[in-house]
Amino acid sequence: MTLDDVLQEPAPQLAAETVDRLLARGWGLGGARVRALPSERDLNALVGDEHVLKVSNPAEARDSIELEVAVMAHVAATDPGLVMPRTVPTTAGAPLLETADDTGRACLARVVTVVPGEILEGTSLTVALAEQVGALAARTSVALQGFFHPAAGGRGLDWDVRRLPDVVAGALDSGVLDAAREPVLAGLPERVGDSLRACAALPSGVQHADVTLTNVLARDGRVTGVIDFGDVHHTARVADLAVTLTAVLRNSGPQAVGLWDLAAAVLRGYQRRSPLAPEEVAVLGDLVLARLAVSTLISRTRAAEHTDNLTYITQYDDANARVLAELAALTPAGLRDRMHRLAGTAEPHLDGDLGTRRAAVMGGPLSPLFYRQPLQVVRGDGPWLVTADGRRMLDAYNNVAVVGHAHPTVTHAVTRQLGRLNTHSRYLHPGVVRLAERLVATMPHGLDTVLFTTSGTEANELAWRLATEATGGDGAVIARHAYHGSTRWMADLSPNEWPEGHRPDGVALFEAPYGPADALTADVAAGRVRDAAAQLAASGHRAALVLADSGFTSEGVRDAPASYLQGLVDGAHEAGALYLADEVQVGYGRTGPLLWRFALAGVTPDIVTLGKPMGAGYPVGAVITRREIADVLARRYEYFSTFAATPVAAAAGNAVLDVLEDERLPERAVAVGEHLRAGLRGLSARHDAVGEVRGTGLLAGVDLLAGRDHARDVLAGLVEHGVLAGLTGPGGVVLKVRPPLVWEAEHADLFVAALDDVLGGVRVDGVAPR
Ligand code: PMP
Repeated sequence: MTLDDVLQEPAPQLAAETVDRLLARGWGLGGARVRALPSERDLNALVGDEHVLKVSNPAEARDSIELEVAVMAHVAATDPGLVMPRTVPTTAGAPLLETADDTGRACLARVVTVVPGEILEGTSLTVALAEQVGALAARTSVALQGFFHPAAGGRGLDWDVRRLPDVVAGALDSGVLDAAREPVLAGLPERVGDSLRACAALPSGVQHADVTLTNVLARDGRVTGVIDFGDVHHTARVADLAVTLTAVLRNSGPQAVGLWDLAAAVLRGYQRRSPLAPEEVAVLGDLVLARLAVSTLISRTRAAEHTDNLTYITQYDDANARVLAELAALTPAGLRDRMHRLAGTAEPHLDGDLGTRRAAVMGGPLSPLFYRQPLQVVRGDGPWLVTADGRRMLDAYNNVAVVGHAHPTVTHAVTRQLGRLNTHSRYLHPGVVRLAERLVATMPHGLDTVLFTTSGTEANELAWRLATEATGGDGAVIARHAYHGSTRWMADLSPNEWPEGHRPDGVALFEAPYGPADALTADVAAGRVRDAAAQLAASGHRAALVLADSGFTSEGVRDAPASYLQGLVDGAHEAGALYLADEVQVGYGRTGPLLWRFALAGVTPDIVTLGKPMGAGYPVGAVITRREIADVLARRYEYFSTFAATPVAAAAGNAVLDVLEDERLPERAVAVGEHLRAGLRGLSARHDAVGEVRGTGLLAGVDLLAGRDHARDVLAGLVEHGVLAGLTGPGGVVLKVRPPLVWEAEHADLFVAALDDVLGGVRVDGVAPR
């Protein structure tokens, strides 16, 4: 039997005595007061005040009814608080009773409980009620997640929006639709076809598919429950919402709440309970259009066939036409944008004023932006950043997004934890402890203690406190163009940013590893530290800490041979200081195949600081040291930082480590980095403006030989070519390539090709021939 048969077959006919006998035999409810309820295809009746008898259409397939019973049992079990009818078993304990109507046709009867309230259809709908209807649709959909029944697929219900093309074709054939007179309706399959097809890839499951105002009950301005699971079928959950939204929008009007206010309310309610992804919202408007069209055309077809039941069949015609006209008046993109705005999934639009407004309230020159034409980025995706004006840019710069932008593992871990608990670190939390244990496991023997912070700066500050307490010293030795942070003291330890003539007391400099590797012996490095310590001593200070970015990035990306790093450690110890490997920038697998650049050199620092990529943008940093060093600080102080090591920070930190491990990104960084540098060296051979190419793994520095202005031109040219890089080094003439580690060889090739193009187009004056 098909659905058409159910619609053709008259509803069961049972006289009052037959009903009474049936109720007595099945449920012991004989003698109750029975009142008929409206139904197009079944016999429904109120029994007393608490029960409804449902005798299904003789043409209805048994498995459809069993499906409905199973769905109701599932929802009752997964969301016991959701008010909906419950199946009342027969006195023999069965959900269904086989019976016959007065004409002798076999049909199935059951009894369900009554849901309090009155149906919303026909009442004046408020914004508050519309919001509750949206929430109810979401809740019902969530309660059905995980439900399965073989009869739920392929039910071929006429009003399933996916059938729009067939319904329109049928209406054109039968003549109830004339394409010349109603081009909008006739053209809908074309207009919404992509959205209908997109549903196949959207979150789907068995849905109620009929949370409409006839099936939602309310009392005293509050939604009380949902009824009628007779249309359940497998579809996209956004298609389920489209049914609800369509029903609500039909109630908008000049004398009622406006259409967009109602739409906003439904979406607000839905999003609060079970947020839709942007891809789902993108098709919602089209699905509502499809639903309106299907409803309109089925009504017309049936009105032509069943002239006796016209009022019922055509009850939505006017409202359908009105809502359809209003939605279809928008362009497809306009409708989509409108839905995104209502659902809160809209991306920010390009805002011409933003730079001026930002400068006005955010310190102007104190907090400059990147690039000649500052970018408004609205979205990230792996190695890509997307701007508000829709450009997809290759990210060759951001190491915070070490695992790629918007990595789902990180996003889910963070949002899950944020929805559960986020508090400070003075409570026991397994995620935090696990992150500390995992970090210790990556460190050389002896580095057994993790102190969490919220930034690289804070980590270096804490390291400084540890070093001064542990050594009794008060001076710092740093590389000549180092950067270590933004607090007062860290700014003094960041000569890269010193203003002219700034010479902080208690700070001495050593040369970063420039020049050929074989000249950069341990003795040379130790000698440089010794000289710096002697300078400190001459001004009355004793070295407490020697610290260096292990990749010497702000020096222009300098490749320190193992001997050089070992010499720095030895020099520090010789001077009675501790050695700090600042891995805030280069750490986390960038230089691969290990997580830490210092580890590649085989040295053991006294302290390691971490930050930037550690939480993929969620603020978290760390100091890792030996317990004995931490114990010295503990004799006189406690350490606590409110936002350091929150459960969410730990979730982010663990997720980043998970992705690095699962996707073997540190190993990949070695191969892709080598490929990148080979390409860059190729450019160096062909372009006079390109000098030495340095780096390890996915950290590369390229000397641009034609001066600072030219370097800026190159950077701006890269942006025009859709590639985001940076400049570093003394004088800002080293092109810095430090991309997310999800780069593949093809991204490196894209970068090299863009740079090649830019260099070909940029005039280079005054470059010495090589
Ligand atoms: N150390 C190094 C080597 C860095 O690169 C940075 C940031 N650029 C910092 C410390 C400071 O980190 P944050 O900005 O998180 O304070």
